[in-house]
Amino acid sequence: MTADQAEDSIPQIASEVTACPLCELCRSRTHAVPGEGNHKARVMLIGEGPGWHEDQQGKPFVGASGKFLTELLSNAGLNREDVFITNVVKCRPPGNRDPLPDEIEACAPYLERQIRVIDPDVIVTLGRFSMSRFFPGERISKIHGVPKEIGKRLVAPMYHPAAALHQGALRATIQEDFDKLPKLLAERDRAREANREQDDRPTQSSLF
Ligand code: URA
Ligand code: SF4
Repeated sequence: MTADQAEDSIPQIASEVTACPLCELCRSRTHAVPGEGNHKARVMLIGEGPGWHEDQQGKPFVGASGKFLTELLSNAGLNREDVFITNVVKCRPPGNRDPLPDEIEACAPYLERQIRVIDPDVIVTLGRFSMSRFFPGERISKIHGVPKEIGKRLVAPMYHPAAALHQGALRATIQEDFDKLPKLLAERDRAREANREQDDRPTQSSLF
């Protein structure tokens, strides 16, 4: 690990994002939205990009889809303060258009640093842009709710709350997918415990 990585922190990343000039989205933003929540969260949620409300307030998921997200988390036994919430791009695409590939690439190092600092057990991707970073070429309709082990974490792709909010069938689906979160966390606990037992077991050479 380099000295830079050792000293990285969520506030440091946020202050860089707030003044970031690295893509076109910096021109039209009111406020950049670095993300917020628990810096030691076990669950990190990654959305698409700030909307109008988020751009006004500098906070992620504070509009209608944010209210729904808070409800989904709470039904799964999680408070917003327990998790960390951020987006693939930290500044609002004008008129809520899709983020462009070069904007996503320009912003990716911030997301990667946030993941490294928080070191969550479970990453929840919300919507297809966030999903594509971890599951390139996959379709959300096929893989939603099915977690995959990537490195030492589980990454669980979910529908975007804004898409699910007003569509009856998707709403039930996203609710069911979120309800799996406590089980996923318990699974990670068991995996960690099993690793620890393995580490504690005397090795053959130490028995002789
Ligand atoms: N939609 C997102 O993807 N992110 C937000 O922060 C708000 C709405
Ligand atoms: Fe910088 Fe990301 Fe904002 Fe683009 S979207 S200006 S890369 S913080």
